[in-house]
Amino acid sequence: MVQAKGKKETNALKEKLFSKPELVWDRISSKEKDEVFDLGERYKQFLSKAKTEREAVDEIISTAEAAGFRDINKPGRSRKLYALNGAKAVALAVLGREPLHMGLRIVAAHLDCPRLDLKQNPLYEDLDMAYLKTHYYGGIKKYQWVARPLAVHGKVVLADGREVDLKIGEAGDEPVFIVNDLLPHLAQNVQATKKMADIVAGEKLNVLIGALPYPDRDVSDRFKLAILVFLNKTYGITEDDLVSAELEVVPAGPAKDVGMDRSLVGSYGQDDRASAFMTLSALSELRNPTFTCVALFVDKEEVGSEGPTGAKSRFFQMVVMDLFAKAGEPLLISHLEKALFRSKAISADVNAAMDPDWAEVHEKRNAARLGYGISLSKFGGIRGKVGSNDASAEYIGWLRRIFKNASIVWHTGELGKVDEGGGGTIAKFLAEHGMDVVDMGVPVLSMHSPFEITHKGDIYMGYRAFKAFFSA
Ligand code: MN
Ligand code: MN
Repeated sequence: MVQAKGKKETNALKEKLFSKPELVWDRISSKEKDEVFDLGERYKQFLSKAKTEREAVDEIISTAEAAGFRDINKPGRSRKLYALNGAKAVALAVLGREPLHMGLRIVAAHLDCPRLDLKQNPLYEDLDMAYLKTHYYGGIKKYQWVARPLAVHGKVVLADGREVDLKIGEAGDEPVFIVNDLLPHLAQNVQATKKMADIVAGEKLNVLIGALPYPDRDVSDRFKLAILVFLNKTYGITEDDLVSAELEVVPAGPAKDVGMDRSLVGSYGQDDRASAFMTLSALSELRNPTFTCVALFVDKEEVGSEGPTGAKSRFFQMVVMDLFAKAGEPLLISHLEKALFRSKAISADVNAAMDPDWAEVHEKRNAARLGYGISLSKFGGIRGKVGSNDASAEYIGWLRRIFKNASIVWHTGELGKVDEGGGGTIAKFLAEHGMDVVDMGVPVLSMHSPFEITHKGDIYMGYRAFKAFFSA
């Protein structure tokens, strides 16, 4: 029989026995609070520069090179290495003191974000205006992409092999582009009565890019021609060159502070460049780790991790093979398999933060919360954890101890109520090698929208958590 005690003693008992998530802000020193805002500034700069997976790779390489990382395919003795997979995925590694077959520490994040991709024959004119056809990429609410300033970023490969990097709509004096919406006065039948997915049809996501005709009045397609004349003069591009191009339409403008207290970051692309930034920041500061540490940045997560730059490609194994060579260790098949099998990994990806206005889709005891540090999701998947990498109790127990020792503020999360929806990450592709993997990332409000919201305290804790993991 438990005997009732005084209030003070009972409270002490609750303190000891109850689980109590804590706010980052309540747990850190004033010096750490300054660090939160300093890191927040660097984070916003990263988001503003890295608005496509290609630009993210460029930012990662320039940060890595400044931190002493060298190209794995170049001769040299560096223990800090990077390996490019084309221009849209990259791995960074710091060789550890233990041999590689003892396993690696891996944090993997994705660099691709939902957006509008230009089709391969995008340019046309209609009603004396020039437009670009698009096909959306990843899970978007199409209605969020209309009536807002847009920029075009990407690469065009010309007939002679020359590559042109294109970015229009970001600098203060540059023009932006727009997908127009219908005025409410006329929306009664074609929008107001429709379901969300049909309010703006995919084929109506056409980007307005000009309205001046070519001067010669006697020719047809004067508006399209005027745009092509501009593109040809400025970049040497002809219409044919757009076939060998990857041009992405993204929300225009930089990342911003949100809130009177500047506690939040608002920006396009935080899923999953939040994780990319935290991983990059953690790994680039790492010195002489016990186990070899790898930061893997992949593409195509938002469309199923397919393709040579996605998490399903064999790029990662190839990097590990190259690491054996760089470490001067014999590359036996058994050693390669063991290196992967004995590894420990974090699938770094954001989670849905509970929103008080949409609390009904969450189960509040298990949902991720803004400001409570990085969030760990034991499982994902849909309808009965299907398709999920369900991390083991042993692995989460191991991480708990590491995080406790490093004073990391963290909590658990899940992607919505049971049977509410769900989703997957790249965790299961890493787990195919037999390694332990768990999903971790910062909670995000308005996820997959053109302006996603994160908490600076969570970004700071994510960076610290990944650093502690790499160092363990
Ligand atoms: Mn996503
Ligand atoms: Mn993601």
